[in-house]
Amino acid sequence: MAKTYYITTPIYYPSGKLHIGNTYTTVLCDALRRYKDLRGYDSFYLTGMDEHGKKIETVANENDVSPIEHVDEMARQTRELWDRLKISYDDFIRTTEKRHKTVVQKIFERLLDQGDIYLGTYSGYYCMHCESFFTESQLEEGNTCPDCGREVSWLEEESYFLKLSKYQDRLLQFIEDNPDFITPESRRNEVLAFIRQGLNDLSVSRTTFDWGIKVISDPKHVVYVWIDALSNYISALGYGTDNDDLFQKYWNGDEVVHVVGKDILRFHAIFWPIMLMALDIPVTFKLHAHGFYMMKDGKMSKSKGGVIYPDTLLKHYGLDELRYYLLRELPYGGDGLFTPETFVDRINFDLANDFGNLLNRTVTMINKYFGGSVSYNETGTMPVDEDFEALLKETPEAYARSMEDLKVSQAIKSLWRLISRTNKYIDETTPWILAKDEAKKNELENVLYHLSDSLRQIGIMLKPILLEASEALFRQLGVNEDKRDWDALIYGAQPTFNVIHKGTPLFPRLDVEEEVDKLKKIVRGDDDTIASGEEDLNLATIDDFAKLDLRVAEIKTAKPHPNADKLLVLKVDAGENKMRQIVAGIAKHYEVDALVGKKIVIIRNLEPVTLRGEKSEGMLLAGSGKNRMEVLEVTGLKPGDSIS
Ligand SMILES: [Zn+2]
Repeated sequence: MAKTYYITTPIYYPSGKLHIGNTYTTVLCDALRRYKDLRGYDSFYLTGMDEHGKKIETVANENDVSPIEHVDEMARQTRELWDRLKISYDDFIRTTEKRHKTVVQKIFERLLDQGDIYLGTYSGYYCMHCESFFTESQLEEGNTCPDCGREVSWLEEESYFLKLSKYQDRLLQFIEDNPDFITPESRRNEVLAFIRQGLNDLSVSRTTFDWGIKVISDPKHVVYVWIDALSNYISALGYGTDNDDLFQKYWNGDEVVHVVGKDILRFHAIFWPIMLMALDIPVTFKLHAHGFYMMKDGKMSKSKGGVIYPDTLLKHYGLDELRYYLLRELPYGGDGLFTPETFVDRINFDLANDFGNLLNRTVTMINKYFGGSVSYNETGTMPVDEDFEALLKETPEAYARSMEDLKVSQAIKSLWRLISRTNKYIDETTPWILAKDEAKKNELENVLYHLSDSLRQIGIMLKPILLEASEALFRQLGVNEDKRDWDALIYGAQPTFNVIHKGTPLFPRLDVEEEVDKLKKIVRGDDDTIASGEEDLNLATIDDFAKLDLRVAEIKTAKPHPNADKLLVLKVDAGENKMRQIVAGIAKHYEVDALVGKKIVIIRNLEPVTLRGEKSEGMLLAGSGKNRMEVLEVTGLKPGDSIS
């Protein structure tokens, strides 16, 4: 029977829009679960939302909706984002669901009955925003919250407490006995140090707000966040209900992994195992706490003026580009710096140059030299093969070791080492020279076969990382369906490759200057319409539109701009008694010859300007999509016909 794998993200708190941090966690878990699937595991991936608490109540009030309406909408948006990112989750738990609430109420009553929860009084300085109590010594200057800087107020309330102190020694022992329970090690040490200071009992109920799960035996209390939220990992599996098959299978199965951001490490490393111990549930999980993406001036947050949303990056750059950057750039155990420059560089260097170009060259050469088909050819063996094959053989193991250790960035690095080695193999064997000598036909085929098979194996290992590009690679190279799995990571597993007639580059190069500039604007918040991923709703009147004199024009000549790579200089006939010159930024998208004769749409009454020394009398209309620009064309109309 297949081994089981249960992986979870934290449940996210929907008081605001989800940011790149939540997205990182979710994409990371997605990559790990896909890796385990690749290894033949029976896996289950849980994510969801933590929907109770004072803050939700407040935000809903501000928006004039009920709390449930607010969280319904947030859940809808979140699932939509995960769907767009092709997150392979199996279940999306919401703490407002009945299936969750009944389990939490049961857990609370049981802990109360057995004396692990008791009634006491809680007092302290309370930050409503963070829903946290602080002692006087923890407060910042002027009695403000140490986490968010807002004003705090003194609060005393009746509260239930969980006896952490009772389980302190047992937990300490458990962590010491299980060195890989918490990773990375620095986080483990942090937790150990915290426990050794001594644990205070934890307040686990509130009477100051209503939006939560009521304590059955004392309904003026609602269950406070920790017991409510942490229980999701087992309530989603049906723990404590008549149907707990999933719980038995996955929680008590082979591997359980909770992935969290380092900001909620303590709750998962201390409160959660203690709750499980108190409930007599085995602590089967391993906890991984990752760092964050930061902007140059600190943690990414709206209040600090630097934030980037995943849907923006997705919309402008694409799924694999976003996944690759997130998974590659955050170092294991540390924080990563998000910069527009590194984002564009990763796409251009790693994806476009190293990887995309390698595939494209390989497909092109197979078409050019062998009519689209190459086979394993032992008679063409060359001395450099040995060194190349050695790395090809080592890579799956190095990659797997890193993935098993949740070091996804490291795993990607070992893949790119192989990609570089494959590129180097082309330089070493110079297939274009071999091709000139009919006597070297076997050597040439041997070289192209090596390239194909290396790419095939790279494609297999890329499956958890690049969802679309790995599929495209298989399609372009003609990789057989049964040679796309882990078992097929053997040199020579597919004896022949029949590649497609014409490959298309997987990752077109981005214009560095243009894209960095765009990203900087987004990050600075100069351009809110881009940042939010929403369309510009700047309204124009019909009179505004009527001011424009739109005409059909035929392109008579086109030539490169003498001083600018991106510009073309066009002469067009717009139905006047002279030619009109228009300078257009379409050089990256059109060959000059292909433009001549096209009937396009221009704005004729635009104020003339001089662009890098060339006069432009008007502007042509073009549309742009992802990495693509198309000049608007008409067919039946004549030069000079007007458009409105
Ligand atoms: Zn606060």
